[in-house]
Amino acid sequence: MKDSHGRVIDYLRISLTDRCNFRCVYCMPEEGVCQMSHEEILSLEEIERLVVVAAEHGIKSIRLTGGEPLVRKGVDDLIRSMTSIPGIENVSMTTNGVLLPRMAESLKAAGLNRVNISLDTLDPVQFHEITRVGKLEDTLAGIDAALEVGFDPVKVNAVTVRRLDQDFLAFAKLSLDRPLHVRFIEYMPLGQKAGDGLAGWGPEDVVPSKELLERINADAVAAGMEPLVPADRNPLGWGPAKYMAFPGAQGTVGFISPMSRHFCSECNRLRLTADGKIRPCLFSDEEYDVREALRAGADDEVARVLMQALGAKPDEHHDKVGTERNMSAIGG
Ligand code: SAM
Ligand code: SF4
Repeated sequence: MKDSHGRVIDYLRISLTDRCNFRCVYCMPEEGVCQMSHEEILSLEEIERLVVVAAEHGIKSIRLTGGEPLVRKGVDDLIRSMTSIPGIENVSMTTNGVLLPRMAESLKAAGLNRVNISLDTLDPVQFHEITRVGKLEDTLAGIDAALEVGFDPVKVNAVTVRRLDQDFLAFAKLSLDRPLHVRFIEYMPLGQKAGDGLAGWGPEDVVPSKELLERINADAVAAGMEPLVPADRNPLGWGPAKYMAFPGAQGTVGFISPMSRHFCSECNRLRLTADGKIRPCLFSDEEYDVREALRAGADDEVARVLMQALGAKPDEHHDKVGTERNMSAIGG
């Protein structure tokens, strides 16, 4: 499947739910989301049917996200059926990790290939401030569980925000002794039309990856460590990250720069929201309703909506970042 700008689109991110067991300040309002009703959200069967059609048109990789994908009932069964769809080569997940100690084993058995765990700070007080309800130890236990059951790679995604003053070196050091791939992601002021994010953090809170790398290396050298060097291997899983590593480390340190370096020319993805809208671009509110097609039409109609969304993929996001929906509703 190629879009009108010649990019091969083979990756679909699926938001399984807009609900979450956290309330991260930059992602969800404190009172939680105005939850989609049972009828509004796609059933697991509808999602599976869409993936069958998408795979026939060249989608090879699926990432399950949300909201928190692990709060959706039946996620194991969905993974099991997705991995047996012809053309689907891998199914991965982005999670806050809290339910992994309980679920990692069954997710692995169902065929989930890899997990990304979101963690923005190693300070327990700050963790609680950011997530409003979460405990750092729970997400750390989720990372341990993911490694224990043998997911490979296990990536830890940290959103970098200037005003949070995170200890970036401490994060990067998580890659030293275990095969963890730490990735720093520039904060994106989404969730308010004006581009002044949900938490009231604006563009001034973006820490550009270049600055971040310089800071980590300066702190590493001051601590008597060798600086990061370009990694001789990339952890599996296509992605727009640039990977570095500490010499001799088991894992890597990646930098994802949606704000300072547009990687739109390498974009290979479509997104499906929990209520059945296909979004051609994270940063644009343009959406294509595939739910109606799934409920009323034949597979041809589902494919038509998919191709319509594909055809609407913009060449780049042109610095427009404000959106109607929050990340939890888009599926980050
Ligand atoms: N609940 C799961 C989790 O937290 O991993 C999956 C959904 S969450 C929306 C996916 C990712 O989006 C998380 O890593 C989160 O930190 C990130 N995210 C949410 N809002 C963001 C924003 N405004 N800028 C950058 N990343 C954001
Ligand atoms: Fe939930 Fe993930 Fe959003 Fe945090 S970032 S509120 S864990 S969906």
